[in-house]
Amino acid sequence: MPLLERVEAIYQDVVKRNPGESEFHQAVKEVLESLGPVLVKYPDFAEAKIIERICEPERQTIFRVPWQDDRGQVQINRGFRVQFNSALGPYKGGLRFHPSVYLGIIKFLGFEQIFKNSLTGLPIGGAKGGSDFDPKGKSDNEVMRFCQSFMTELWRIIGEHTDVPAGDIGVGGREIGYLFGQYKRLTNKFEAGVLTGKGLVYGGSQVRTEATGYGCTYFVEEMLKGKKNGFKGKKVVVSGSGNVAIYTLEKVHQLGGKVIAMSDSNGVVVDERGFHLETVQQLKEVERRRIRDYCDYHKHAKYQAGGNIWDVPCDVAMPSATQNEITGKDARKLVKNGCIAVGEGANMPTTPEGVQIFLSAGVLFGPGKAANAGGVATSALEMQQNAGREAWGFEETDAKLHQIMKNVYTICSEAADEFGSPGNFVVGANIAGFIKVARAMTAHGLV
Ligand code: GLU
Repeated sequence: MPLLERVEAIYQDVVKRNPGESEFHQAVKEVLESLGPVLVKYPDFAEAKIIERICEPERQTIFRVPWQDDRGQVQINRGFRVQFNSALGPYKGGLRFHPSVYLGIIKFLGFEQIFKNSLTGLPIGGAKGGSDFDPKGKSDNEVMRFCQSFMTELWRIIGEHTDVPAGDIGVGGREIGYLFGQYKRLTNKFEAGVLTGKGLVYGGSQVRTEATGYGCTYFVEEMLKGKKNGFKGKKVVVSGSGNVAIYTLEKVHQLGGKVIAMSDSNGVVVDERGFHLETVQQLKEVERRRIRDYCDYHKHAKYQAGGNIWDVPCDVAMPSATQNEITGKDARKLVKNGCIAVGEGANMPTTPEGVQIFLSAGVLFGPGKAANAGGVATSALEMQQNAGREAWGFEETDAKLHQIMKNVYTICSEAADEFGSPGNFVVGANIAGFIKVARAMTAHGLV
């Protein structure tokens, strides 16, 4: 079968074998579309059916998570862990707690994670997990009881050499703390390297909290530098107002840019003077409030209930909320308004139509699996510190993160050049991420 038809047939098979999982189909399609030229260069990969194998998770676990709310009512959620690929190291990837979570979301995230983790150059496989539990509006005690019940199942399949979960949407320092406490209690082991994103006092790493936002900003800086440009004086729009968005805001300001819009699922705030970091941190990280409350502290800022953040004119867009948040229509609007660069802080925030619009308009486009790799890369640095019983300083760890992001940029850029799509970091990231995993899988034989 000719190669292109073969790749299409693999995709059709994935759709058939995984019905109803549209986000997973979308993530697979985007990667497979890049891989034709790789099979031409490496016929061994086709022979060993590496692509077919990579699309099938090594192991998937789904479990019941019963817990009691503050009124004493019984609640039942569903827990997931998809251990996708362990060719490069222990399974690694976050946990997402959000009502939209179902198997298709966890599989798309786990699939992306394989290539992202490969691009970091660090020894980590790909996985993802989570639950349809909604932490919004829950008390600390409810969140704790949920996390303890979740870990009471999860502990059997994780471990510092097996599978190392971390945070994602809805899972931050508080949740990781409760999960770690329950793992420690169940196993009677202080196995620091079993989870990352831990608090600094019990084995966490400096810069892990900031890493995804800082890393994404470093990646965009590299893309801009490639065009003899930089953040200085740039107007930046950052969707979301969670962990990724907050530390994108901090780093963009440090590099001389100005973040003028942020959002949450209810609406958009525009602050033409540039967002005030400490206010956003206090509102979101300490008080867990909504972004509209920012306007109570900064009267000149404007709140648009139900607004679309991509209507706000900007030079650089950094989608840092969730999947498929930039549609084709949004992408056209951004291009029309003069946007020159997009860095995906979230996972798969741009629809396939949106990606094509950016690429054909010559917008610098940093896909999530490259641009947001700084989070998981710093998780791998946390694992290194745990294994060596070390704790590095902030500057030292940030310098390592910065270097890793420069490397990710270089690897993507070189792969794009080598395989005939110069400047296309989507193709570059998919190919460079894939080749390393494929080589390791080939070396391991048919397992
Ligand atoms: N959830 C993050 C991601 O999408 C981080 C995962 C990790 O640190 O393991 O890459």
